[in-house]
Amino acid sequence: HAKEHGGDAASFFHASMLEEALDLMQLEIDLHRALENDEFFLVYQPIVSVVDRRITGFEALLRWRHPERGVVGPDAFIALAEHSGLIHLLGRKALDEACRTLAKWRRVDQLFDGLTMHVNLSARQLSQTHIVEQVAEALRDSCLPPHLLKLEVTETMLMENPDYANAVLCRLRDIGVGVCVDDFGTGYSSLSYLQRFPIDTLKVDRSFVSRMTREPGQFKIVQAVIALAHSLGLEVVAEGVEDEEQRIMLLGLACRYAQGFLFAKPLAAEDVPAHVTG
Ligand code: C2E
Ligand code: MG
Ligand code: MG
Ligand code: MG
Repeated sequence: HAKEHGGDAASFFHASMLEEALDLMQLEIDLHRALENDEFFLVYQPIVSVVDRRITGFEALLRWRHPERGVVGPDAFIALAEHSGLIHLLGRKALDEACRTLAKWRRVDQLFDGLTMHVNLSARQLSQTHIVEQVAEALRDSCLPPHLLKLEVTETMLMENPDYANAVLCRLRDIGVGVCVDDFGTGYSSLSYLQRFPIDTLKVDRSFVSRMTREPGQFKIVQAVIALAHSLGLEVVAEGVEDEEQRIMLLGLACRYAQGFLFAKPLAAEDVPAHVTG
């Protein structure tokens, strides 16, 4: 049959799929070795106040210094790490290091007073039984005040098993940690959970922010999300702000916090203190 329907195209298709599968398998093997060899590191992107661009916190973002491929971003390996179960170790390392790093900066300069650290959690981390203990341990080991840590989860993660997620978030709130809904507006949403779950911040997804200055419909979505968040007593961070026009528009919508290349790209840990002291 393959011949009748263009055998060459079909076998080419299979060859490229095989190549892709082999590439992923190789990456998964590399991932195991990378953890042992400490090839992962964090970069820190400032979160700023929209009004005066002052830094209010950071988001820790994983990077992989791959010996052949160079520095690889999380979109290329988080899903694979989830699939293979390595995310538990990797996520825990990221959490520990982000807490330790902010605690260290705080000891060096009081300009870091009150600045927060956002850490992304993956779906598998959230559903793991010891996640709350791990968070508590990261805080204890680093001596970071709990209210300075914000954990980022997605709405899809919360909706997969809402009762379980709610119980975990309540325990996190009890130890004083903040919870932030990442990429808000892109997942499967039920608006009622916003007031039912102990959440304190919404991050408006970059896809809305990047189109808001050109598309009135996108502007209205951002406007509505900000109004909804504020009426529920939640803070809002606009993601992916790349130009001044977007900042001015967000200012007009009373959005207090933003993150994006307009303010700063993710920074190496050693570059952060100089960036903060200006
Ligand atoms: P996210 O949490 O939504 O992180 C924001 C992403 O947007 C980052 O990409 C950041 O570099 C990028 N970004 C920030 N400002 C701008 C901008 O103005 N323009 C554009 N075009 N992009 C901007 P990154 O670092 O590649 O991270 C991608 C995703 O990987 C993150 O999305 C997060 O879901 C995941 N991730 C990163 N680090 C971790 C981690 O430690 N654990 C877990 N589970 N996931 C992580
Ligand atoms: Mg995030
Ligand atoms: Mg995000
Ligand atoms: Mg995102």
